[in-house]
Amino acid sequence: MISFYPGPSKTDENLDKYLSEAASSGILSCNHRSPSFMKLMKDCIKVIKQKLEIPSNYEVFFTSSATECWEITGQSFSKKSFLHIYNGAFGEKWFSYNSKINNAVEGLAYPIHRSISLHQLDRSGAKQKDVICLTSCETSNTTKVHQKTIRKVKNRYPNSLLFIDATSSMSGVSIDWISGDIWYASVQKCFGLPPGLAVMVCSPKAIDQADKNDFHYNSLKSIYQNTQKFQTTHTPNTLGIYLLYKSLSNKLGIKAEHEKIRKRMKNLIKQLKLLGYDFVVPTKKVQSETVIGIKCKAELLPIIKEKAKEKGITLGNGYGKWKLNSFRIANFPAHSDSDFEKLLIFLKSEDFNKKREN
Ligand SMILES: *Cc1c(COP(=O)(O)O)cnc(C)c1O
Repeated sequence: MISFYPGPSKTDENLDKYLSEAASSGILSCNHRSPSFMKLMKDCIKVIKQKLEIPSNYEVFFTSSATECWEITGQSFSKKSFLHIYNGAFGEKWFSYNSKINNAVEGLAYPIHRSISLHQLDRSGAKQKDVICLTSCETSNTTKVHQKTIRKVKNRYPNSLLFIDATSSMSGVSIDWISGDIWYASVQKCFGLPPGLAVMVCSPKAIDQADKNDFHYNSLKSIYQNTQKFQTTHTPNTLGIYLLYKSLSNKLGIKAEHEKIRKRMKNLIKQLKLLGYDFVVPTKKVQSETVIGIKCKAELLPIIKEKAKEKGITLGNGYGKWKLNSFRIANFPAHSDSDFEKLLIFLKSEDFNKKREN
């Protein structure tokens, strides 16, 4: 089966090999304060920084999930005021988690076919907010926030911290790291790995401003202190860290990966248009490069999914409002060009849309 589900999705093609290496290496029986574990963590952070081109003064941390990062960013900045900018389910959930943790939390929803408006941010008092939060790829509705927009937000509010949920972007597209203060992603999306691990990247400014007396086990302060020793606050997902290390070590750099993703999405959109499909996000500037939502008549959806299954293809369900009239296709680095050829052959052979005939 080829899974185009936008996470968990298709895994690294060498996963079998890495899993058996992990098991036979003995690392999975090592204590997380042992030299062997510390070496793995050190090597893993090094390769993440190298392959993803993360500035040397930024920190890389491990957490269990993007959801945990929603809590960490709330708990560890408890004296701050927040503005959450969102247009979909994940951004909204982050806002809602934080609203339960902190008092000074405001949300600003914006439409999915448009860029974030700086004027609207001004009107929402973004200048007075200590922290601005946004989601760089809203996996639920397949929008992205353009890199240039993130940079503009950073430049316009230089005193605020900018936190970014980059779950379906990190390791798939190039990130302009210095335009954000905290970026995080769980590994079952663009990293092509099994779930249960997330990567958090932090600017020195974010670490400096994190609460010093946050008592949670996963406070940013104690994560930071442990990471300085290449240790974790708790017994971590050693297998996940091992797989991440192995998988990234054998990958191209992020620029080459991004180019592959960009080209493939461009071709996919072109081919789908020829077949008469419409997209959940019609505006190119805000259409994600790593996941696309394809509109489909409600009565056709179960048929397409079933027939795809017969051909060994798993399509992603639509999400929320689009659950019954769309499907999603992940375009992650673990997918091969031939996976996409198979997908297109399938869609062409069936011509579900028959739009051209009408
Ligand atoms: C998948 C996803 C999450 C949730 O990830 P978990 O690993 O389940 O915590 C959060 N944000 C975005 C944008 C996602 O795509």
